[in-house]
Amino acid sequence: MNAAAARHNNAAPIMEVRDLNLWYGDGTHALKDVCFDLYPREVLAFIGPSGCGKSTALKVLNRMHDGGRDVRIEGTVLMQGHDIHAPDVDPPLHRRRFGWVAQKPNPFPASIWENVAYGPRIHGLTRDRDEMAALVEDCLRRAHLWDEVKDHLHDIDGTDLSGGQQQRLCIARALSTQPDVLLMDEPTGSIDPIATAAVEDLVLEMKHHLSIVLVTHSMMQARRVADRVAYFHLGELREIGPTEMIFAAAQDPEARAFIAGQLG
Ligand code: ADP
Repeated sequence: MNAAAARHNNAAPIMEVRDLNLWYGDGTHALKDVCFDLYPREVLAFIGPSGCGKSTALKVLNRMHDGGRDVRIEGTVLMQGHDIHAPDVDPPLHRRRFGWVAQKPNPFPASIWENVAYGPRIHGLTRDRDEMAALVEDCLRRAHLWDEVKDHLHDIDGTDLSGGQQQRLCIARALSTQPDVLLMDEPTGSIDPIATAAVEDLVLEMKHHLSIVLVTHSMMQARRVADRVAYFHLGELREIGPTEMIFAAAQDPEARAFIAGQLG
């Protein structure tokens, strides 16, 4: 194991991103020579001003840009040592290894049960209804939603829940395909402070089982939940390191200014 690999939890990285460049069809050079590792059981927060490439970098990891018009990607992204863009990688199977939680809760207009059961069903992850019931319960429990919805799994739609409950349902749905990595794009950007605290508690619990990459505009949130922080600026990943180190003594002048609230 090299020194870099020893940096978190004494584990080798689950993902390695090297010299990543991405251009959108209109010529926007959204990612410039981006390099970082993602370790098992860590929360890595992407911070930086708007439009600096944080969401774009998140989407590269699960190949969400596939099919995007004229998106061009150069560089290497390895998952457990394997190139995610290699011809033998099946994009839907690759994507199944990731959960995605968006800024605005986006449950399906279907029952709570269906929201969680849909992914495992289409991927054939359970053998019968008992197994599915156990999986649905487990995901809802892990998302701290079970007690609130257990008597209404089939007769209330996900879209009828409160905003905070909807986001926890979306987290349960993201967990239902048993991902290795959870990608969260400003997951508390449109919910109230109490619901935000609930989601942050969940992040801290979930990281015991998977890796989490979190885009956040909230410096307080990054401090509360992230093990490491990556600062993006105009498409460059300027600095990455342990959260307390970046907040106390970032080397990059723009990162320091951003953290101090003087930029972005
Ligand atoms: P952030 O998440 O840091 O706010 P983004 O990754 O969303 O930044 O955007 C990075 C840059 O790429 C911005 O200049 C943005 O306007 C541009 N961009 C994002 N999505 C697209 C798209 N689908 N087509 C063209 N340009 C895009």
